[in-house]
Amino acid sequence: MKEQLRQRSQTSSERLAPGSVIGVLGGGQLGRMMALDGTRMGYKFITLDPQPDCPLGQISEQIIAAYDNAEAAGQLAAKSDVITYEFENVDAGVAALLEERSYVPQGSKLLYTTQHRLREKAAIEAAGVPVAPYREITSLESLHEAVAELSLPCVLKTATGGYDGKGQAVLRQEEQLEAAYTELAATGAELVLEKFITFTSEISVIAARTPNGEVKSFPPAENIHVNNILYLSIVPARIPTEVQRKACQLAEKVAEGLNAVGLLAVEMFLTADGSLYVNEVAPRPHNSGHYTMEACTTSQFEQHVRAICNLPLGDTTLLTPVVMVNVLGQHLDEVIGRSIVEDQAAIQLGIVPKLHLYGKSDSKHNRKMGHINLLCGDVEDALEWVKQTNIWRH
Ligand code: AMP
Repeated sequence: MKEQLRQRSQTSSERLAPGSVIGVLGGGQLGRMMALDGTRMGYKFITLDPQPDCPLGQISEQIIAAYDNAEAAGQLAAKSDVITYEFENVDAGVAALLEERSYVPQGSKLLYTTQHRLREKAAIEAAGVPVAPYREITSLESLHEAVAELSLPCVLKTATGGYDGKGQAVLRQEEQLEAAYTELAATGAELVLEKFITFTSEISVIAARTPNGEVKSFPPAENIHVNNILYLSIVPARIPTEVQRKACQLAEKVAEGLNAVGLLAVEMFLTADGSLYVNEVAPRPHNSGHYTMEACTTSQFEQHVRAICNLPLGDTTLLTPVVMVNVLGQHLDEVIGRSIVEDQAAIQLGIVPKLHLYGKSDSKHNRKMGHINLLCGDVEDALEWVKQTNIWRH
Protein backbone atom coordinates (compact mmCIF):
# COMPACT_ATOMS: atom_id res chain seq x y z
CA MET A 1 0.00 0.00 0.00
CA LYS A 2 2.71 2.45 1.09
CA GLU A 3 4.85 1.55 -1.90
CA GLN A 4 1.94 2.13 -4.26
CA LEU A 5 1.11 5.45 -2.67
CA ARG A 6 4.71 6.55 -2.83
CA GLN A 7 4.91 5.76 -6.51
CA ARG A 8 1.86 7.85 -7.27
CA SER A 9 2.26 11.51 -7.85
CA GLN A 10 0.70 14.14 -5.60
CA THR A 11 -2.32 14.14 -7.90
CA SER A 12 -3.15 10.68 -6.55
CA SER A 13 -6.82 9.92 -6.00
CA GLU A 14 -5.96 7.12 -3.54
CA ARG A 15 -7.64 7.45 -0.17
CA LEU A 16 -5.89 6.40 2.98
CA ALA A 17 -8.49 4.37 4.82
CA PRO A 18 -9.28 4.66 8.53
CA GLY A 19 -7.15 2.15 10.44
CA SER A 20 -4.04 3.51 8.69
CA VAL A 21 -1.18 4.84 10.79
CA ILE A 22 -0.33 8.54 10.62
CA GLY A 23 3.26 9.29 11.65
CA VAL A 24 3.85 12.78 13.01
CA LEU A 25 7.25 14.41 13.18
CA GLY A 26 6.97 16.44 16.39
CA GLY A 27 4.74 15.61 19.32
CA GLY A 28 3.59 18.96 20.68
CA GLN A 29 0.08 20.29 21.10
CA LEU A 30 -0.55 20.62 17.36
CA GLY A 31 0.17 16.92 16.85
CA ARG A 32 -1.88 16.04 19.93
CA MET A 33 -4.97 17.89 18.72
CA MET A 34 -4.49 16.40 15.25
CA ALA A 35 -4.45 12.95 16.83
CA LEU A 36 -7.50 13.65 19.03
CA ASP A 37 -9.52 14.41 15.91
CA GLY A 38 -7.78 11.82 13.75
CA THR A 39 -8.40 9.07 16.32
CA ARG A 40 -12.09 9.96 16.32
CA MET A 41 -11.95 9.43 12.56
CA GLY A 42 -10.41 5.96 12.99
CA TYR A 43 -6.73 6.66 12.32
CA LYS A 44 -3.81 5.53 14.49
CA PHE A 45 -0.90 7.78 15.41
CA ILE A 46 2.80 7.49 16.11
CA THR A 47 5.14 10.38 16.80
CA LEU A 48 8.86 11.03 16.79
CA ASP A 49 9.82 13.53 19.48
CA PRO A 50 12.86 13.81 21.78
CA GLN A 51 10.76 14.75 24.82
CA PRO A 52 9.48 11.68 26.72
CA ASP A 53 5.76 11.93 27.48
CA CYS A 54 5.30 14.81 25.05
CA PRO A 55 1.70 16.03 24.46
CA LEU A 56 1.12 13.70 21.48
CA GLY A 57 3.17 10.85 23.00
CA GLN A 58 0.69 10.74 25.91
CA ILE A 59 -2.06 9.59 23.53
CA SER A 60 -0.11 7.71 20.82
CA GLU A 61 2.92 5.52 20.27
CA GLN A 62 6.16 7.52 20.50
CA ILE A 63 9.70 7.06 19.24
CA ILE A 64 11.89 9.07 21.60
CA ALA A 65 14.79 10.50 19.59
CA ALA A 66 16.14 13.73 18.14
CA TYR A 67 14.32 15.03 15.07
CA ASP A 68 17.45 14.72 12.95
CA ASN A 69 18.16 11.12 14.02
CA ALA A 70 18.10 9.26 10.70
CA GLU A 71 17.66 5.82 12.28
CA ALA A 72 14.65 7.00 14.29
CA ALA A 73 13.18 8.68 11.20
CA GLY A 74 13.61 5.34 9.40
CA GLN A 75 11.67 3.63 12.21
CA LEU A 76 8.91 6.22 11.92
CA ALA A 77 8.73 5.63 8.16
CA ALA A 78 8.57 1.86 8.65
CA LYS A 79 5.66 2.13 11.08
CA SER A 80 3.59 4.78 9.26
CA ASP A 81 1.31 4.64 6.24
CA VAL A 82 1.53 8.39 5.82
CA ILE A 83 3.81 10.97 7.40
CA THR A 84 3.14 14.56 8.35
CA TYR A 85 4.82 17.12 10.59
CA GLU A 86 3.70 19.69 13.12
CA PHE A 87 6.59 22.14 12.69
CA GLU A 88 8.34 23.36 9.58
CA ASN A 89 11.98 23.31 10.62
CA VAL A 90 12.37 19.68 9.67
CA ASP A 91 15.96 18.73 8.88
CA ALA A 92 16.37 18.54 5.07
CA GLY A 93 18.12 15.13 5.25
CA VAL A 94 15.33 13.67 7.37
CA ALA A 95 12.68 15.11 5.04
CA ALA A 96 14.38 13.45 2.06
CA LEU A 97 14.73 10.14 3.90
CA LEU A 98 11.07 10.12 4.92
CA GLU A 99 9.97 10.93 1.38
CA GLU A 100 12.04 8.07 0.04
CA ARG A 101 10.90 5.49 2.59
CA SER A 102 7.31 6.47 3.22
CA TYR A 103 4.38 8.42 1.84
CA VAL A 104 4.72 12.15 2.58
CA PRO A 105 1.90 13.80 0.63
CA GLN A 106 2.99 17.28 1.72
CA GLY A 107 6.39 16.64 0.11
CA SER A 108 9.72 18.12 1.14
CA LYS A 109 9.54 21.01 -1.38
CA LEU A 110 6.87 22.82 0.66
CA LEU A 111 9.14 22.60 3.71
CA TYR A 112 12.13 23.80 1.70
CA THR A 113 10.12 26.84 0.58
CA THR A 114 8.54 27.76 3.90
CA GLN A 115 11.72 27.25 5.97
CA HIS A 116 13.30 30.30 4.37
CA ARG A 117 11.70 33.76 4.21
CA LEU A 118 13.28 34.72 0.87
CA ARG A 119 12.17 31.52 -0.86
CA GLU A 120 8.75 31.83 0.76
CA LYS A 121 8.24 35.42 -0.38
CA ALA A 122 9.35 34.59 -3.93
CA ALA A 123 6.88 31.67 -4.05
CA ILE A 124 4.02 33.81 -2.70
CA GLU A 125 4.75 36.54 -5.25
CA ALA A 126 4.95 33.92 -8.01
CA ALA A 127 1.44 32.86 -6.98
CA GLY A 128 0.33 36.43 -7.72
CA VAL A 129 -0.19 37.39 -4.07
CA PRO A 130 1.32 40.57 -2.56
CA VAL A 131 3.97 40.56 0.16
CA ALA A 132 5.59 43.57 1.85
CA PRO A 133 8.33 45.00 -0.43
CA TYR A 134 11.60 43.30 0.52
CA ARG A 135 15.29 42.97 -0.33
CA GLU A 136 17.88 40.31 0.32
CA ILE A 137 20.64 41.66 2.56
CA THR A 138 24.16 40.31 2.13
CA SER A 139 26.26 43.06 3.75
CA LEU A 140 25.97 46.30 5.71
CA GLU A 141 26.35 48.20 2.41
CA SER A 142 23.47 46.27 0.87
CA LEU A 143 21.39 47.10 3.95
CA HIS A 144 22.07 50.83 3.45
CA GLU A 145 21.17 50.51 -0.26
CA ALA A 146 17.97 48.61 0.51
CA VAL A 147 16.92 51.14 3.16
CA ALA A 148 17.49 53.92 0.62
CA GLU A 149 15.16 52.08 -1.78
CA LEU A 150 12.42 51.02 0.63
CA SER A 151 12.75 53.97 3.05
CA LEU A 152 12.41 53.66 6.82
CA PRO A 153 10.74 52.25 8.84
CA CYS A 154 11.73 48.70 7.86
CA VAL A 155 12.09 45.33 9.58
CA LEU A 156 15.32 43.36 9.32
CA LYS A 157 14.77 39.61 9.76
CA THR A 158 16.80 36.43 9.65
CA ALA A 159 15.62 34.33 6.70
CA THR A 160 15.65 31.17 8.81
CA GLY A 161 15.17 30.11 12.40
CA GLY A 162 13.24 33.15 13.75
CA TYR A 163 10.14 32.68 15.88
CA ASP A 164 7.97 34.71 18.26
CA GLY A 165 9.62 37.92 17.09
CA LYS A 166 13.15 36.57 17.71
CA GLY A 167 15.62 37.15 14.89
CA GLN A 168 14.18 40.50 13.85
CA ALA A 169 14.66 44.21 14.45
CA VAL A 170 12.49 47.18 13.56
CA LEU A 171 14.57 49.95 12.02
CA ARG A 172 13.24 53.49 12.40
CA GLN A 173 16.43 55.54 12.15
CA GLU A 174 19.62 55.27 10.08
CA GLU A 175 21.66 55.08 13.29
CA GLN A 176 20.09 51.73 14.16
CA LEU A 177 21.25 49.96 11.00
CA GLU A 178 24.76 48.94 11.96
CA ALA A 179 23.91 47.50 15.40
CA ALA A 180 20.90 45.59 14.06
CA TYR A 181 22.94 44.24 11.15
CA THR A 182 25.81 43.17 13.42
CA GLU A 183 23.45 41.41 15.83
CA LEU A 184 21.42 39.53 13.23
CA ALA A 185 24.35 38.73 10.94
CA ALA A 186 26.06 37.11 13.96
CA THR A 187 23.38 34.38 13.91
CA GLY A 188 24.94 33.18 10.66
CA ALA A 189 21.54 33.23 8.94
CA GLU A 190 20.81 35.00 5.67
CA LEU A 191 18.96 38.29 6.14
CA VAL A 192 15.97 39.96 4.57
CA LEU A 193 14.80 43.56 4.88
CA GLU A 194 11.07 44.25 4.67
CA LYS A 195 9.20 47.50 4.42
CA PHE A 196 7.40 48.11 7.72
CA ILE A 197 3.67 47.81 7.02
CA THR A 198 1.48 50.13 9.10
CA PHE A 199 -1.35 47.66 9.50
CA THR A 200 -4.79 48.20 10.97
CA SER A 201 -5.07 44.51 11.81
CA GLU A 202 -3.24 41.23 11.53
CA ILE A 203 -5.33 38.38 10.19
CA SER A 204 -4.74 34.78 9.24
CA VAL A 205 -6.53 32.31 7.02
CA ILE A 206 -6.05 28.56 7.25
CA ALA A 207 -6.43 26.95 3.85
CA ALA A 208 -6.39 23.23 3.11
CA ARG A 209 -5.59 21.45 -0.13
CA THR A 210 -5.82 17.77 -1.02
CA PRO A 211 -3.51 15.85 -3.37
CA ASN A 212 -6.42 15.98 -5.85
CA GLY A 213 -6.33 19.77 -5.78
CA GLU A 214 -9.50 20.45 -3.79
CA VAL A 215 -9.02 23.68 -1.80
CA LYS A 216 -11.03 25.19 1.05
CA SER A 217 -10.34 27.87 3.62
CA PHE A 218 -11.61 28.71 7.09
CA PRO A 219 -12.97 32.17 7.93
CA PRO A 220 -10.19 34.71 8.68
CA ALA A 221 -9.13 35.19 12.28
CA GLU A 222 -8.17 38.63 13.59
CA ASN A 223 -5.06 38.08 15.69
CA ILE A 224 -3.77 40.12 18.59
CA HIS A 225 -0.24 39.45 19.82
CA VAL A 226 1.37 40.46 23.10
CA ASN A 227 5.17 40.23 23.34
CA ASN A 228 5.08 38.63 19.88
CA ILE A 229 3.03 35.69 21.19
CA LEU A 230 -0.53 35.15 19.99
CA TYR A 231 -2.91 36.36 22.71
CA LEU A 232 -6.35 36.43 21.05
CA SER A 233 -7.92 35.25 17.82
CA ILE A 234 -11.23 36.93 17.06
CA VAL A 235 -13.67 35.38 14.58
CA PRO A 236 -15.39 36.77 12.64
CA ALA A 237 -12.54 39.22 12.17
CA ARG A 238 -13.75 42.79 12.64
CA ILE A 239 -13.06 43.74 9.03
CA PRO A 240 -15.41 44.25 6.06
CA THR A 241 -16.97 41.11 4.59
CA GLU A 242 -15.41 41.75 1.19
CA VAL A 243 -11.94 41.93 2.78
CA GLN A 244 -12.65 38.62 4.53
CA ARG A 245 -13.57 37.11 1.19
CA LYS A 246 -10.46 38.54 -0.46
CA ALA A 247 -8.26 37.17 2.34
CA CYS A 248 -9.68 33.67 1.81
CA GLN A 249 -9.12 33.95 -1.94
CA LEU A 250 -5.51 35.02 -1.42
CA ALA A 251 -4.84 32.16 1.02
CA GLU A 252 -6.31 29.64 -1.41
CA LYS A 253 -4.23 31.12 -4.23
CA VAL A 254 -1.07 30.74 -2.14
CA ALA A 255 -1.97 27.11 -1.27
CA GLU A 256 -2.44 26.39 -4.97
CA GLY A 257 0.67 28.30 -6.03
CA LEU A 258 2.81 26.43 -3.50
CA ASN A 259 1.20 23.13 -4.51
CA ALA A 260 0.50 22.63 -0.82
CA VAL A 261 -1.10 19.49 0.53
CA GLY A 262 -2.61 19.58 4.00
CA LEU A 263 -3.05 22.84 5.87
CA LEU A 264 -1.38 26.10 4.99
CA ALA A 265 -1.76 28.88 7.56
CA VAL A 266 -1.41 32.25 5.84
CA GLU A 267 -0.71 35.32 8.02
CA MET A 268 -1.51 38.73 6.52
CA PHE A 269 -1.41 42.43 7.30
CA LEU A 270 -4.44 44.56 6.48
CA THR A 271 -3.83 48.28 5.88
CA ALA A 272 -6.22 51.24 6.16
CA ASP A 273 -6.78 51.32 2.38
CA GLY A 274 -7.97 47.69 2.41
CA SER A 275 -4.73 46.19 0.99
CA LEU A 276 -3.61 42.77 2.17
CA TYR A 277 0.02 41.64 2.33
CA VAL A 278 1.03 38.10 3.21
CA ASN A 279 3.60 38.15 6.02
CA GLU A 280 4.36 34.45 6.34
CA VAL A 281 2.92 30.99 5.84
CA ALA A 282 3.14 27.76 7.83
CA PRO A 283 2.42 24.34 6.30
CA ARG A 284 0.73 22.94 9.41
CA PRO A 285 -2.08 23.53 11.89
CA HIS A 286 -1.75 26.96 13.43
CA ASN A 287 -2.50 28.51 16.82
CA SER A 288 -4.79 31.05 15.13
CA GLY A 289 -6.88 28.14 13.81
CA HIS A 290 -7.67 26.63 17.21
CA TYR A 291 -10.99 28.46 17.21
CA THR A 292 -12.22 26.00 14.56
CA MET A 293 -12.32 23.17 17.15
CA GLU A 294 -15.79 24.08 18.38
CA ALA A 295 -16.73 27.06 16.24
CA CYS A 296 -16.63 25.43 12.80
CA THR A 297 -18.30 22.35 11.36
CA THR A 298 -14.85 20.84 10.74
CA SER A 299 -11.78 21.64 12.87
CA GLN A 300 -8.45 22.56 11.29
CA PHE A 301 -7.07 19.27 12.67
CA GLU A 302 -9.74 17.09 11.06
CA GLN A 303 -9.22 19.07 7.85
CA HIS A 304 -5.49 18.35 7.88
CA VAL A 305 -6.10 14.63 8.41
CA ARG A 306 -8.70 14.69 5.62
CA ALA A 307 -6.28 16.45 3.28
CA ILE A 308 -3.25 14.21 3.85
CA CYS A 309 -5.43 11.07 3.65
CA ASN A 310 -7.05 12.42 0.48
CA LEU A 311 -10.60 12.37 1.84
CA PRO A 312 -12.98 15.08 0.65
CA LEU A 313 -12.42 18.28 2.66
CA GLY A 314 -14.90 19.11 5.42
CA ASP A 315 -17.28 22.05 5.56
CA THR A 316 -15.57 25.15 6.97
CA THR A 317 -18.67 27.12 7.93
CA LEU A 318 -18.44 29.21 11.11
CA LEU A 319 -21.19 28.05 13.47
CA THR A 320 -20.81 30.82 16.06
CA PRO A 321 -18.73 33.92 16.80
CA VAL A 322 -15.72 32.94 18.91
CA VAL A 323 -12.71 34.38 20.68
CA MET A 324 -9.73 32.10 21.31
CA VAL A 325 -7.49 33.12 24.19
CA ASN A 326 -4.18 31.37 24.80
CA VAL A 327 -3.39 29.98 28.24
CA LEU A 328 0.32 30.55 28.91
CA GLY A 329 2.30 29.27 31.89
CA GLN A 330 1.53 32.41 33.92
CA HIS A 331 -2.24 31.95 33.37
CA LEU A 332 -2.48 28.25 34.08
CA ASP A 333 -2.98 28.21 37.86
CA GLU A 334 -5.81 30.70 37.75
CA VAL A 335 -7.44 29.01 34.78
CA ILE A 336 -7.47 25.54 36.32
CA GLY A 337 -8.15 26.84 39.83
CA ARG A 338 -11.59 28.07 38.94
CA SER A 339 -14.55 26.69 37.11
CA ILE A 340 -14.75 28.87 34.05
CA VAL A 341 -17.89 27.03 32.93
CA GLU A 342 -19.66 28.28 36.06
CA ASP A 343 -18.32 31.82 35.80
CA GLN A 344 -21.36 34.02 36.42
CA ALA A 345 -20.09 36.89 34.27
CA ALA A 346 -19.58 34.50 31.37
CA ILE A 347 -23.03 32.95 31.84
CA GLN A 348 -24.65 36.37 31.91
CA LEU A 349 -22.90 37.33 28.69
CA GLY A 350 -24.03 34.06 27.09
CA ILE A 351 -20.46 32.86 26.68
CA VAL A 352 -19.75 29.13 26.44
CA PRO A 353 -16.05 28.57 27.31
CA LYS A 354 -14.32 25.45 25.98
CA LEU A 355 -11.04 24.71 27.73
CA HIS A 356 -8.21 22.79 26.05
CA LEU A 357 -5.04 21.91 27.97
CA TYR A 358 -2.08 20.22 26.31
CA GLY A 359 -0.79 17.90 29.03
CA LYS A 360 2.54 19.69 29.52
CA SER A 361 3.82 19.08 33.04
CA ASP A 362 6.46 21.79 32.94
CA SER A 363 4.66 25.14 33.14
CA LYS A 364 6.83 28.13 32.27
CA HIS A 365 6.26 31.84 31.74
CA ASN A 366 5.07 32.42 28.14
CA ARG A 367 4.91 28.67 27.38
CA LYS A 368 1.72 27.67 25.58
CA MET A 369 -0.11 25.35 28.01
CA GLY A 370 -3.60 25.46 26.51
CA HIS A 371 -6.28 27.71 25.13
CA ILE A 372 -9.93 28.56 25.69
CA ASN A 373 -12.45 28.95 22.90
CA LEU A 374 -15.10 31.39 24.05
CA LEU A 375 -18.20 30.67 21.99
CA CYS A 376 -20.38 33.74 22.10
CA GLY A 377 -23.17 35.74 20.51
CA ASP A 378 -20.91 38.75 19.96
CA VAL A 379 -17.11 38.81 20.04
CA GLU A 380 -17.17 42.11 21.96
CA ASP A 381 -18.82 40.27 24.90
CA ALA A 382 -16.08 37.65 24.94
CA LEU A 383 -13.37 40.34 24.74
CA GLU A 384 -15.01 42.15 27.65
CA TRP A 385 -15.05 38.92 29.68
CA VAL A 386 -11.33 38.29 29.02
CA LYS A 387 -10.63 41.80 30.32
CA GLN A 388 -12.93 41.44 33.35
CA THR A 389 -11.51 38.12 34.61
CA ASN A 390 -8.11 39.75 35.14
CA ILE A 391 -6.36 36.43 34.43
CA TRP A 392 -4.61 37.78 31.34
CA ARG A 393 -2.41 40.43 32.91
CA HIS A 394 0.39 39.09 30.60
P1 AMP B 1 6.91 37.39 12.01
O1 AMP B 1 7.95 36.65 12.77
O2 AMP B 1 7.30 37.67 10.60
O3 AMP B 1 5.54 36.76 12.12
O4 AMP B 1 6.75 38.81 12.73
C1 AMP B 1 6.32 38.93 14.06
C2 AMP B 1 5.47 40.17 14.22
O5 AMP B 1 6.23 41.34 13.91
C3 AMP B 1 4.27 40.22 13.28
O6 AMP B 1 3.17 39.53 13.84
C4 AMP B 1 4.03 41.71 13.18
O7 AMP B 1 3.29 42.19 14.29
C5 AMP B 1 5.42 42.30 13.23
N1 AMP B 1 5.95 42.45 11.85
C6 AMP B 1 6.66 41.55 11.15
N2 AMP B 1 6.96 42.01 9.92
C7 AMP B 1 6.41 43.22 9.82
C8 AMP B 1 6.34 44.22 8.78
N3 AMP B 1 6.94 44.04 7.60
N4 AMP B 1 5.66 45.36 9.03
C9 AMP B 1 5.05 45.55 10.24
N5 AMP B 1 5.08 44.67 11.25
C10 AMP B 1 5.75 43.53 11.06
